[in-house]
Amino acid sequence: MLETGSGRLVAEWQARRLPYVQLLLFTHPRHPYKPAVPVPGSDTAPLGASTRYCAVYGHPIHHSASPAMQNAGLAALGLDWRYLAFDVHPDQVAQAIAGARAMKFIGLNLTVPHKLLALDLVDVLDDSARNWGAVNTICFEAQDASGSWKPLREFAGPVPETIRSHGFNTDADAIIRALREDLNFQSAGARVLLLGAGGAGRTAALKLAASDVAELFLVNRTASKAQALQSEIRKRFPRVQAQVGYPKTAVDLLLNATSVGLNPGDPSPCDAREFAIAKAAAVYDMIYRPAETALLKAAAAAGCRTANGLGMLLYQGAKALELWTGREAPIQEMREALRANVYGRH
Ligand code: NAP
Repeated sequence: MLETGSGRLVAEWQARRLPYVQLLLFTHPRHPYKPAVPVPGSDTAPLGASTRYCAVYGHPIHHSASPAMQNAGLAALGLDWRYLAFDVHPDQVAQAIAGARAMKFIGLNLTVPHKLLALDLVDVLDDSARNWGAVNTICFEAQDASGSWKPLREFAGPVPETIRSHGFNTDADAIIRALREDLNFQSAGARVLLLGAGGAGRTAALKLAASDVAELFLVNRTASKAQALQSEIRKRFPRVQAQVGYPKTAVDLLLNATSVGLNPGDPSPCDAREFAIAKAAAVYDMIYRPAETALLKAAAAAGCRTANGLGMLLYQGAKALELWTGREAPIQEMREALRANVYGRH
């Protein structure tokens, strides 16, 4: 009975199979695999054996807006490249960099907490990484026929097996560019109040000092870190007046490089008893999510020019893309993708 029953079921299934397959063929959407980021001119082009890769490593990484921004940039340049994001534990970052090199990735971005670790993990440090003490971008390079090291984009055919990692820092230039483009801030001769002496605060302080600011006022919750930064600036940039504490008089720029403001309900990181915000001509908050922190709200109400940290994120990414591709970054497309990703709108 069972045999007969199951045999009948099989026969019924076979009888129905053709129409079912036909149904599938004619009703199921038959799109080829479509990448999330269409490449202009070939928006159905699948990932293929010649697709090249870049990636960002961080821990955590799931909030990163870099894939949206960089894939929009790659698409606008018409490249069959993709930019991926990986959650890499600090204990594994050396292996992860070696893996990308072995798989002939074009390059990498590194974000928290890998930027300092990478100083010891890359084969060569660019001056930008040496000067600002952190690596946020890696370019993989190989030797051409004349023995010169060239970025992997320059190898159209098979890539040589000996590849080196070249570490850069694109964060420092991005800070200055964002301040200039978003706030019309000119660093030469300026007085700057900097809140925060962590990784981003240190990079900002050193880059501002190198960009000829006249005076830097350093404020940090952990005073010893502000003092260490003051000593470093005095040693490396003796022409810059670096002091710890709030200024008594007006400044051209107040720059927030603390993480105060990231969480809903966070207060302003600027102590109003020490410094009235109206004494700052311009206020930049490195935080971009939320778009308007308590600091920026108070600054706008006091009539200061204001900008959030989205520009800084954009310009460090644009510079990385330029290092990998050798082409000018499509800023507008990258900015729109970034805004859409971070704020859900253009
Ligand atoms: P970090 O190295 O962890 O430094 C955090 C800084 O915030 C330190 O100065 C820390 O002071 C201070 N801080 C933290 N909690 C505080 C509190 N409750 N009260 C007062 N100060 C506090 O981080 P980071 O990488 O420098 O990043 C700093 C900020 O910049 C973050 O908001 C980050 O999102 C932002 N950022 C933005 C971009 C961009 O592209 N827009 C890029 C990098 C960073 P202590 O030294 O006393 O701990």
